[in-house]
Amino acid sequence: MRYVSTRGTAPAVDLRTALFDGLAPDGGLYLPERLDPLPAAWIAARPGAALPDTAAGVLRPFTAGAIDEAALAALVGDALDFPIPLVPIEPRVWALELFHGPTLAFKDVAARVMARLMLALRPGGEPVTILVATSGDTGSAVAHAFARLPGMRVVILYPEGQVSPIQEAQLTTFDGDAAGRAQALAVAGTFDDCQRLVKGAFANATLRADVRLTSANSINIGRLLPQIVPYFHAAGQLPPGSPAPVFATPSGNFGHLTAGVMAARLGLAVARFVAATNVNDVVPHYLDTGRYEPRASRRTIANAMDVGDPSNFERMRVLYHDDVAAMRREITGCRHDDDRTREAIRDVYRRTGYLLDPHSAIGYLGLREELARSPRAAGIVMATAHPAKFSDIVEPVIGEAVAMPERLAACLARPKRFTRIPARPEALEEVLRG
Ligand SMILES: *Cc1c(COP(=O)(O)O)cnc(C)c1O
Repeated sequence: MRYVSTRGTAPAVDLRTALFDGLAPDGGLYLPERLDPLPAAWIAARPGAALPDTAAGVLRPFTAGAIDEAALAALVGDALDFPIPLVPIEPRVWALELFHGPTLAFKDVAARVMARLMLALRPGGEPVTILVATSGDTGSAVAHAFARLPGMRVVILYPEGQVSPIQEAQLTTFDGDAAGRAQALAVAGTFDDCQRLVKGAFANATLRADVRLTSANSINIGRLLPQIVPYFHAAGQLPPGSPAPVFATPSGNFGHLTAGVMAARLGLAVARFVAATNVNDVVPHYLDTGRYEPRASRRTIANAMDVGDPSNFERMRVLYHDDVAAMRREITGCRHDDDRTREAIRDVYRRTGYLLDPHSAIGYLGLREELARSPRAAGIVMATAHPAKFSDIVEPVIGEAVAMPERLAACLARPKRFTRIPARPEALEEVLRG
């Protein structure tokens, strides 16, 4: 498979180039050259299939020519060694729990597969340094995904004192082998300073070549492709005879929803998608008006979705040939503010005993609105984070303590290891060369 730029003015490249370059030379994002439907018999055999088996089947066409089938099967088996169960919440509504990986959020799914794709394809088998700036969740998922892989070193920058205690613990408590390969840098500055330092390091050609820097941000094709898998895995877990589901995806940068659209092009039967956002609603606004008007992001309690100019929207536009009417035929937009989100967490917990985190609650609200219009449909909300990860928000809403998963408790108990650096390029360069 070859990969083409969304802007259409760069040459098509192989998977390795797309993976390690991140962005195409014309500034566009990579998409697979083709999305051919998977064999109908394979799709029909999803009920009861194991997650790694579904993952290998989805990723095979995209890795053909780069990774052989046995290596792909081993890679996805190692990456997706945790369950992604479909759990009933109430009649016609299921949650796909994507948060049983090491950092308890859905970004583990794609980051773990991407890390192993990079390990398999790194040029000349040379050591690689992954450099990421984070305001919270992405950094910990990426650090955990890479930290135990030989030949991969990961350096994470975060603004000191500006990430939550749980996020900081997840970024700074690596042990054993991982402690030598994952380095957390607490930057005296803001998230924007961290991003500026990372951009500066990538722009420094000698540094970039000397330490073989690579990024792992949300526009990387290696993050996008694995996100197709859970849509197939979800549909395979619905009760036999269920109608094609509505998928509600809590969205920020829109990689997750883009992957859903790709799953449908690959042949998955989908009734509709719901693009569920918080008040950062540029995509629902586009679906309402046909105008794409990016703006500065606003802070909400679903902070992983606080995005004012979603990078993956460029891919969605290309997939729909820039035709808003075509997009409306498959996707409904909806947005909900913090008050409605808190209400939904409380209401669902009281009625059903199921506890949603703020991101998943926004997906749930969007799903309920869509199901009200489609009385026979079944709905799946993509549950993107464990509620314990957002206990500071969830506990006051339900008036109860949230049980802490063992993995999180263990992480909070380990000593933190990080290096403080000033927000200056020389300081980062010294660490990278060190
Ligand atoms: C990143 C994230 C999202 C948004 O996913 P996108 O692919 O950026 O739209 C939603 N929920 C959680 C918990 C996340 O970490």
